Amino acid sequence: MEFNILTLCYLVASVTFILGLKMLSNPASARKGNLVAAFGMTLAISGTIFLYRNSETGEHLHNYGWIFGGLLIGGIIGTLAAKKVKMTAMPEMVSLFNGMGGACAALISLVEFNHLSKEFAINNSHEFVAAHQPTILIIVLGLIIGSVSFSGSMIAWGKLNGKVKDLSFAGQNILNMIFLLIALGAGIWLVIDPTQGYLLYLILTLSLLYGVLFVMPIGGADMPVVISLLNSFTGVAAAFGGFLYDNKVMLTGGILVGAAGTLLTILMCKAMNRSLVNVLVGSFGGSKNAIGGTAAGPQGNYKEISVSDAAMVMAYANKVIIVPGYGLAVAQAQHVCHELEKILNEKGVEVVYAIHPVAGRMPGHMNVLLAEADVAYEKLEEMEQANEEFKTTDVVLILGANDVVNPAAKTDPASPIYGMPILEVEQAKTVIVNKRSMKPGYAGIENDLFFQPKTSMLFGDAKKVLQDLCAEVKAV
Ligand code: NDP
Repeated sequence: MEFNILTLCYLVASVTFILGLKMLSNPASARKGNLVAAFGMTLAISGTIFLYRNSETGEHLHNYGWIFGGLLIGGIIGTLAAKKVKMTAMPEMVSLFNGMGGACAALISLVEFNHLSKEFAINNSHEFVAAHQPTILIIVLGLIIGSVSFSGSMIAWGKLNGKVKDLSFAGQNILNMIFLLIALGAGIWLVIDPTQGYLLYLILTLSLLYGVLFVMPIGGADMPVVISLLNSFTGVAAAFGGFLYDNKVMLTGGILVGAAGTLLTILMCKAMNRSLVNVLVGSFGGSKNAIGGTAAGPQGNYKEISVSDAAMVMAYANKVIIVPGYGLAVAQAQHVCHELEKILNEKGVEVVYAIHPVAGRMPGHMNVLLAEADVAYEKLEEMEQANEEFKTTDVVLILGANDVVNPAAKTDPASPIYGMPILEVEQAKTVIVNKRSMKPGYAGIENDLFFQPKTSMLFGDAKKVLQDLCAEVKAV
């Protein structure tokens, strides 16, 4: 009876994960989707804690002190971290949480191998070993993928908050491949001869090193691809945990995360014009100029525009396209941005938003940011659509975006963002760029757009500038 209730709990939980994921695909239902999936996860965890019985001994879980102690400590840390985190630090937190998932999967492998090796010490007959080889294979795969995901995500976390700089050295990719191949070779050996337990720690060390070296050189515009790839790794590693424990809900959850992460990686690769094979061997996108890099100071002449002139140009336009970027999130100016949109609409100006797939610091960052301010979803245009429309647009207002509008991606083969499709804003009649200074964006490189004759710089914090623009446009 208990077993059936537990199976039912797992079934309901699996359904909530799928429904939750579906609801996450639209900003209007995303919050509810998150809650639905969280309810399912609570059900699955509670069911496991209270209803699970060991199939051989029939015993319930008994180490409740450890379980509830862990839940309490993790719950408190997670709640405080989520409450305190600033919107701009969300991508870092997502990386950190993703890394924790990888670490859990790696720990499961270590613990389960330990259990098995005790059994091998008692019985290492050929039949007994052969019967457990599939389990060892799953343990090894979970360990490799979980460890790579953990160490890679930790480096991604450091890079996103600017504490870790890009690092690449001659032969890095070859060394990387050697580490991975030795780890895989040791894994195969361990599956063949599970009594060689020390190999597990060799695999762990090499996989951790691989994760570090794999993410370390990635810079410029390529981080989003790596972040989604690491996400999918964690999902796959968790799915291996599900196999190991024969736990259907863990398997379903892992597969969903793995599949969603893989799809996102493919979408990101397409958006960035990169190939997935290049990502997997970690051989692309190294940038000497990324965060805190060696970008030279501004070159050439740029012209400035005052808030009142900018307001005038926009108020008399037929169509304005707003390009949001990371700076809009930093300034937390999404609400006042929506306010400006409404004021312009009242003046008869059509306003839409052009969303670049890697604008901001996490996939979908701009969609989430603008949804928070209740900007209508229909007003958000994807890159391809926006690029069609720039030529018939009077004014493009760039708010804290830089790399995603940098023409070097099309014109400079030496640029770390070369090949990335960009928002081709220079096709509009007038381009107004709001940022605080001439400093570069994430990729750490100069942006020629700022020096073009059509472009005017509107310096200042995005929130303050937008507040002033609202007042001025109203007065026109
Ligand atoms: P960028 O990082 O290129 O540029 C942001 C700009 O915002 C900066 O040049 C900065 O200039 C300006 N800014 C910062 N604060 C403010 C403020 N308060 N008010 C006004 N402006 C401000 O951002 P983009 O969105 O254009 O591009 C995203 C970059 O991040 C890409 O290189 C992408 O590859 C990378 N990335 C994206 C991820 C994703 O998943 N989306 C993940 C990891 C990296 P100033 O200092 O002069 O104000």
